[in-house]
Amino acid sequence: MHTTKIVCTLGPASESRGTIAALVDAGMALARLNASHGSTDERAALVERVRDVDATTEPSVATLLDLPGPEIRTAPLDGSIEVETGSTIRFVESESATPEAIGLSTSIAGIAPGDRVLLDDGRIETTVEESEGSAVRARVDSGGSLGGRTGVNVPGVDLGLDVPTEDDRRELDLAADAGVDFVAASFVRSAADVYAVNEAIEARDAEIPVIAKIERADAVANLAGIVEAADGVMVARGDLGVECPLEEVPLIQKRIIHRCHAAGVPVITATEMLDSMTHARRPTRAEASDVANAVLDGTDAVMLSGETAVGDHPVRVVEAMHSLVGEIERSAEYAEGVERMVPKPGDSRTGALARSARYLARDTDAAAVVAATESGYTARKAAKYRPDVPVVAVTPDDRVRRRLGLAAGVIPRHAPLTGPNQSVDAVIRKAVQTALDAGVVEPGDAVVVLAGMMTDLEDTNTTNTLKLHVAAEILAAGRSVVDGRVSGPLHRIDDGDLTDLPEGAVLALPAEFDDEFDGDPARLGGIASAREGVTGYPAIVAREVGLPMISGVSLTDVAEGDRVTLDAGRGVVYEGDIGG
Ligand code: PEP
Repeated sequence: MHTTKIVCTLGPASESRGTIAALVDAGMALARLNASHGSTDERAALVERVRDVDATTEPSVATLLDLPGPEIRTAPLDGSIEVETGSTIRFVESESATPEAIGLSTSIAGIAPGDRVLLDDGRIETTVEESEGSAVRARVDSGGSLGGRTGVNVPGVDLGLDVPTEDDRRELDLAADAGVDFVAASFVRSAADVYAVNEAIEARDAEIPVIAKIERADAVANLAGIVEAADGVMVARGDLGVECPLEEVPLIQKRIIHRCHAAGVPVITATEMLDSMTHARRPTRAEASDVANAVLDGTDAVMLSGETAVGDHPVRVVEAMHSLVGEIERSAEYAEGVERMVPKPGDSRTGALARSARYLARDTDAAAVVAATESGYTARKAAKYRPDVPVVAVTPDDRVRRRLGLAAGVIPRHAPLTGPNQSVDAVIRKAVQTALDAGVVEPGDAVVVLAGMMTDLEDTNTTNTLKLHVAAEILAAGRSVVDGRVSGPLHRIDDGDLTDLPEGAVLALPAEFDDEFDGDPARLGGIASAREGVTGYPAIVAREVGLPMISGVSLTDVAEGDRVTLDAGRGVVYEGDIGG
């Protein structure tokens, strides 16, 4: 598992169930559905399919519905038309296009002479000469072949197109009905646009985190407010590279990543990351460097677009991305960068504990930070400070589990953590057991546990806990009879005969044990009795000799001589030698 997550855009090349499962296997954490293509019904079916894969694979996969936003597109065309350099053309709101009159999906009548209109990802450049009623006359500075439904950009011009658009609202109906995990808001101008999308989501009685795409110059100018308003940010370099001078994009990218990193808001670096692999089998050197730099700068996720949506070998691209990211994350340069860029403490207590957790994990050589989290907040805070070990986020909420897939370094797992009258200790034990089951930690490893607010714990004052814990496989839990902790070989007896007793053994007694010991009980390490209660002959001996003892624990599945640890204070028997 790597720290940096991989987002894949699904499309004709990757929307089958088998390919989605293979993409997850290769490292996809988030499946992006681009609402600019295909139908709403197709997307609804695709959300279902991704959900289905998520239910059957261990790495979780979340869905991201990318809203079209107020995008402007050229009219549909069967083939393409030639737009001549030096010619004069007219832009009209229409469903058809000729070399003289190019139909657009939206009127651009508000534009002024001297403004630029760029077509097809900026490949065709025109300058406006005059607005003629609902049409706009422009000179072609740099022409080319124009296909149907290509993107149109009017850099630096606010055409007053509001976010969310009518199309966005239709997509939000789907997002709410299908329960997608994130929506991405396109062409936002400021925090107000992000809040407007949130409002539209709330109006549908849904609660879906919003990722703000930074792809306009005014969004760059309003970045601070957008980062505060959004649940995540995308450096949408495709449109950004047309709306802003291309030479500014690398620094804008770095600044966005830096700001998001400091704020603990996940940031996705998107578009053309491995573009040549849409067809080629290997990335270019420049693409490898691009991915490396984004990872070194601290991006939370890298995104693939056409590479996985329409490319020749989507799974291979994700594998390539996975190995590029892994190589960088294993480097000394990456480790130094992470250490240097640890965000300053914020003003929340959970944040302060999460920051301490990162340093505690480093200083105690812990194998993981385990976050027991109900809403995901504690786990996101843990991720913010980027511990150099994985954050295993254990949550009782399945939706939270999927969403945590975007958080850098987080391995999300579902487990029913709480029940009536549970203690924080019990929550911690379950969370650590989940990390053991996930294979991220081994019995005996030190782990740093962060327990967030759990609403139905018996003592909510004791939540927001930071604890250094030793991970251990729990064999049985019962009632403490005599406090103490001991590790030793398990020795089973049916009668009281202690003659074959190995030194320091943990004695396992059956429920029907009804004898007296024959031999020296002081040679015992401790007692685990299957009978309930704190009275009876073994309990009297344990008290007299000072032997740690637990009652109500059956160890019939443990082989004679296997080493176990009796933590009588907690009433738990662990597998192996587990230090305190
Ligand atoms: C982008 O412009 O980089 C982007 C991700 O947005 P879209 O692919 O929706 O144009």
